[in-house]
Amino acid sequence: MVVLLKKNADANQAEKLKAWLKSQGLDIHVSEGKHQTILGLVGDTSQVDIDLIRALDIVEDVKRIQEPFKNANRKFHAEDTVIDISGVKIGGGSFNIIAGPCSVESEEQVCAIAEKVKEYGATMFRGGAFKPRTSPYSFQGLGAEGIRYLMKAKKLTGMPVVSEIMDLSQLPLFDEIDVIQVGARNMQNFTMLKELGKTRKPILLKRGLSATLEELLMSAEYIMSSGNEKVILCERGIRTFETYTRNTLDITAIPVLKSLSHLPVVADPSHATGIARLVRPTALAAAAAGADGLLIEVHNNPEGALCDGPQSLTPGAFKQLAESVFKILPYSEKFR
Ligand code: PEP
Ligand code: MN
Repeated sequence: MVVLLKKNADANQAEKLKAWLKSQGLDIHVSEGKHQTILGLVGDTSQVDIDLIRALDIVEDVKRIQEPFKNANRKFHAEDTVIDISGVKIGGGSFNIIAGPCSVESEEQVCAIAEKVKEYGATMFRGGAFKPRTSPYSFQGLGAEGIRYLMKAKKLTGMPVVSEIMDLSQLPLFDEIDVIQVGARNMQNFTMLKELGKTRKPILLKRGLSATLEELLMSAEYIMSSGNEKVILCERGIRTFETYTRNTLDITAIPVLKSLSHLPVVADPSHATGIARLVRPTALAAAAAGADGLLIEVHNNPEGALCDGPQSLTPGAFKQLAESVFKILPYSEKFR
């Protein structure tokens, strides 16, 4: 981190600032120019409040040179993290497709979809028992009953199951869920992230609707700094000025996250586009860009789906998607 002092900054105040920074355990390299002084801070600056320093009268600007995230940072962990999810490995040399309906609607529904997506190449099953809906009048999910149906689908197919938690009070219900999803709207629910960090469950962390990549990585850092290293990052589209699609899939996020972090990165073209026919082309783009996997919404009757029907693929369309993704994988950035 470097601190640029203002021209003719008061020497007393500058000394006070230096003493305070030293008391934070930092070494200071001072470069005194003709007009301006720069303080280079060496050491662990992750705890330093950048806004506090920037607000001082004598300070012109503060710039971070080092990323504020440590546990998630590739600089401190060069190898890809590989997470073992009940025998399915994600990260490193594998590619996984997590597929299933937006929400769990019945035992028959999840079991039928799970069998199909497994047959067509999915390695994990997803389904929401608790749904974050924009309207309180929309279907909110089956709750505990939904979790029970997911367990049936797991027993039937042997696939590990991913499901979203919306509140920490639900945590005991997730005992047998293999991956806990933290949805976009909860990406910065820091209390929840810290508690999930105390568990040893793999966490699928979705990027917030307007979150920067650094904010996403800082949220991963919350989980990891509490002791849980098993975090999967998910690019699920961000909100932009474009209204044709539900969100905008930030393809760039994939290689950027892969270079900044050792954590597995998956893409969710279903929520990014919101339109079923756009899911396959964007899934291909994400796979080509080096994603470690995909999250795809599949429903056996999209028109009748209680949640996210317009973006849900039929099992047949999912088969086509998986076939084309597997074809291009050897050319992916990931296997370069
Ligand atoms: C979901 O995965 O069904 C979901 C609600 O996702 P997001 O949090 O990305 O909107
Ligand atoms: Mn959904």
